[in-house]
Amino acid sequence: MRRRLAAGNWKMNGLGADLGEVEALAAAHGESGIDILLCPPATLLERMSRISGPIAIGGQDCASKEHGAHTGDISAAMLKDAGASYVILGHSERRADHGESDTDVREKARAAIAAGLCAIVCVGESLEEREAANTLDIIGGQLAGSIPDLVTGENLVVAYEPVWAIGTGKVATLEQIGEVHDFIRARLERRFGAGVGRSVRLLYGGSVKPDNAAAIFSVPNVDGALVGGASLKAADFSPIITALEQA
Ligand code: PEP
Repeated sequence: MRRRLAAGNWKMNGLGADLGEVEALAAAHGESGIDILLCPPATLLERMSRISGPIAIGGQDCASKEHGAHTGDISAAMLKDAGASYVILGHSERRADHGESDTDVREKARAAIAAGLCAIVCVGESLEEREAANTLDIIGGQLAGSIPDLVTGENLVVAYEPVWAIGTGKVATLEQIGEVHDFIRARLERRFGAGVGRSVRLLYGGSVKPDNAAAIFSVPNVDGALVGGASLKAADFSPIITALEQA
């Protein structure tokens, strides 16, 4: 049985003044039967982890190196030391803004897992790739290239985030989500065996909002969501969490 996961990605948003949103979420979902996660900018990790109660905290990226002369980078062990238990890796914004390749993402995931974090590896096709009917090829390649060998249901989560649905208000149809999630599940089972393949949680991400969350959570093989814009305010994220609790 996979434990459902509602994950929020604050991206480059959030100051100390916004930490009240976390307290509100923690108060509203203290008895939740699902996992709830917030991934703030690195500057807020430690402060957020002190007040987040039942809500887990994660980073938005980590270095593949353990330490050393890498100005501006943050290692997986540093995230853990600041209170993180998860890290988002290979988000399409990092693949686009920082040229991160599948190999880069795999090395980061390896480092994250070695440090005791759960790696949320993001995959997703562009609009051009979908329109060219290449979606499953692209996702298959990203899965093969971005996920390291030694994974389990505890240290890996896969997030399917169609690039064209992130921050655009365009949501993939339930059929599109179902097709890709079934494909990801089959690929994980083929590579890692049925035990591990069936235990890895699969999140959908891309304009998840309070009014579409319940329908998305009804799709088989959707174990939760990775939420960007709607995770910034407790008033928006809380109904999404509730929809997942009730799914
Ligand atoms: C994301 O940042 O991963 C994301 C899915 O963003 P949004 O929910 O705003 O589309």
